[in-house]
Amino acid sequence: MGEFSRSIASLTAEMLACNTLEKAQAYLQSLNEPISLHSYIAGSFKAWDAGSTSSVDSFEPKTGRLIAKIPNTSEADVELAIHHAKLAFPTWSKTPRSHRSDCLRRIANLIQENRELLAVWESIDQGKTLERAQVEVDRAVSNFSYFSTYILHEQTPARMIDATSTSASVLTYEHRSPAGVFALISPWNMPLYLLTWKIAPCLAFGCTAVAKPSEITSITAFLLTAIIHESEILPPGVLNLVLGDGPTTGAALVASPNIAGVSFTGGTATGIALRKATAHQIGKHLSLELGGKNPLLLFSDALVPTPDHPAPLPHFAALAAAAAFTNQGEICLCTSRVYVQEASYPAFLATFAAHVRATYAPGTTPAMGALASRAHYDKVRGYLALAEREGATFEVGGVPPEEPEGGGYWVGPVVLTGVRGGSAVLREEIFGPVVVVVPFGSEEEGVRLANGSGYGLAAVVVTRDGGRMRRVGEAMEAGVVWVNGWLQRELVLQGGWVGV
Ligand code: NAD
Repeated sequence: MGEFSRSIASLTAEMLACNTLEKAQAYLQSLNEPISLHSYIAGSFKAWDAGSTSSVDSFEPKTGRLIAKIPNTSEADVELAIHHAKLAFPTWSKTPRSHRSDCLRRIANLIQENRELLAVWESIDQGKTLERAQVEVDRAVSNFSYFSTYILHEQTPARMIDATSTSASVLTYEHRSPAGVFALISPWNMPLYLLTWKIAPCLAFGCTAVAKPSEITSITAFLLTAIIHESEILPPGVLNLVLGDGPTTGAALVASPNIAGVSFTGGTATGIALRKATAHQIGKHLSLELGGKNPLLLFSDALVPTPDHPAPLPHFAALAAAAAFTNQGEICLCTSRVYVQEASYPAFLATFAAHVRATYAPGTTPAMGALASRAHYDKVRGYLALAEREGATFEVGGVPPEEPEGGGYWVGPVVLTGVRGGSAVLREEIFGPVVVVVPFGSEEEGVRLANGSGYGLAAVVVTRDGGRMRRVGEAMEAGVVWVNGWLQRELVLQGGWVGV
């Protein structure tokens, strides 16, 4: 077994023993001070001293209590992690694909074995429901298992250039080589799911990694490295973890000339900052997955009952609600604008609002958790206060109190109508349990309204008309378009068009 300092070893052992919410809560109650998380560099956890290292306080969203402290890993330690990832690269990049595949499959199995405890800590740290956290841990398993087989069967293009009177025929083909050390930076909304979606392909393709989770939700990343560390699956330096905030740790990671590429998921403003910060490093790969203000466009034809679909109205109302409120609306692909064709608008709105109240309101079923942080609570509240000031109608919900009731960052589902066209509520990403419903007339108007935000992440089209599926689907200015469905993904597709 690799080197653990004693206190870090007992911390991880205690946390890894908490496989129910009750056990984890009792464990947190038993502590005199918050958990102290640690970066993982070159196969060892790095102890840090609260006296000399700045840190970030991490709060439990459901209660508002301080549960963890995260060190702001310094530029020097970030560079140390990159240095070790660089040392590990020549050997790791030359390991046979079958070996890397085996490592990834074993990591997938480890996550599967630790499913419950990872879900428990994700739920505590992020605020999401345990059920949602379980879905996301399952996806973390898929991330590793998918890429473990993908690299074994990957195909790259090859083309013949025909012979001419002056030259022989030529075989051209694409050859891919591992690029080096990648910075993997993820947000707080689906912490383990999104970080493993970066780690798995990075390691699969022979690169080495310095991963930085969000400072708001670092617990499952820390536990994942502890689990992998104990298993000794990976050589030291192949996977490193640096904890800390964006301006200190993230910025140092991105800026380092020893980083071959950055895979970033997060807010659009941060994405712009990263592009600027790396503009002069022309060879650095940069992948940016940013925010969304995603539309759902519902056409009246979809609501006509057929023998196959005797009750389309409640079905599509439930689809729109799931698209808007899953994970408290904290999924970049969540729907935040629902456009409904005029003839169906009153019936849809009534059914939709009733379904949202019955399914997502606090105190009924645990369909939604708490928002991830106090700062995010304040942000969502700010948009709702603006909607109220602008005279929007709250069909469901209202403006939450300035001070969160009971300390936790709970916001119930909000359905708005009568939001004025140019309002920030309709234009900007709120990233919470807030959806605006708007009527539209013609197909052209619906497409224009749906495309009328500066974003282009995802869209949903609801129609039973085959021609319209393709016509409107292809007119959507979005990277992913679902027809009559939401959130089904094929992992290898970065953009796409999914029919259901
Ligand atoms: P954020 O941009 O504030 O932070 C994301 C990550 O970047 C964090 O780890 C943060 O510490 C780091 N960071 C911040 N400033 C940095 C800097 N200057 N240099 C390097 N790293 C820096 O985003 P967030 O608030 O954590 O997440 C919410 C956003 O993420 C939303 O906009 C959401 O739409 C988006 N998101 C997008 C996708 C997608 O696939 N497109 C998926 C999930 C979330």
